[in-house]
Amino acid sequence: MLPNIVQVSIFWTVQASAILTVAVPFRWAFIALWAVSHFARAIGLTLAFHRYFAHRAFKMNRVARFVWTWIATSAMQKGPIWWAGHHVNHHKYADREGDPHSPMVSGVYYAHIGWFLNDAKHDTVAPTNPVVRDFSKAPEIAFLDRYFFLPPLVLAVAMFAIGGLPWLVWGFCLPTMTLAHATFAINTVNHMFGTRRFETHDESRNNVLTALFAAGEGWHNNHHRYQGAARNGFYWWEFDPTWYVIRAMAALRLAWDVHPVPRRIYEEARVVRARRSRRTMTSIIDAIPLSFELLEETE
Ligand SMILES: [Zn+2]
Ligand SMILES: [Zn+2]
Repeated sequence: MLPNIVQVSIFWTVQASAILTVAVPFRWAFIALWAVSHFARAIGLTLAFHRYFAHRAFKMNRVARFVWTWIATSAMQKGPIWWAGHHVNHHKYADREGDPHSPMVSGVYYAHIGWFLNDAKHDTVAPTNPVVRDFSKAPEIAFLDRYFFLPPLVLAVAMFAIGGLPWLVWGFCLPTMTLAHATFAINTVNHMFGTRRFETHDESRNNVLTALFAAGEGWHNNHHRYQGAARNGFYWWEFDPTWYVIRAMAALRLAWDVHPVPRRIYEEARVVRARRSRRTMTSIIDAIPLSFELLEETE
């Protein structure tokens, strides 16, 4: 395994290397290269690490699972078992002591990046963790978890081999940096800024901006309310590209047992919305006599 100091150095080097985009000649096609690299890996993380390994929201073909896990691991966010194992703990303790990354518990910097680099506390996941227990048995998954540096290395080398420094910078450095913050923002931004459709016991929020950059993960309050669904956007207007990919895989029979959002959860959303609009109406009505009184007094 790579010593922690090496991992931390590589992490910050890649983060800083994104600045090299200004050092190479600009072409509009590089924006497309950034987008493919950012979003393909964002969908990999969301689909495989998050919805499959951590939440088991659907089942998938073993070859498809390996391909998506490889793509996700190339995001340079450590291995599938490490990632999903910690995520299970996030839901277990959500915004309370024990949550590996909560801005409420440990401050914004630690929740965003600090915890990810803190080897002493977060290097391993307990053997009793359900992700470790069930997925370490698959040799190809255990391999990717152990040699998590391999897929990003292959991607970086491939980019350089295809197009030299400009491809390395636009196809690896910049998108790896933007994707790191898109993912980390779910742990920070989505627990601080946004709307709360459901009155959950944590601080989770829905945020359209993080939904866009993290391939549908920004509907985080929905997700904290019901983790078992294969979709985080609960309605058609909540952009969730990972959900569209899972649906396409199901149509091709590469995925099955796709868990929907139960009807009771939609009903709960409706009840909360109705209660809130009643409350708003009451406060408007309450305000009317007061303003009349004020008017009368001033006349
Ligand atoms: Zn959360
Ligand atoms: Zn989750």
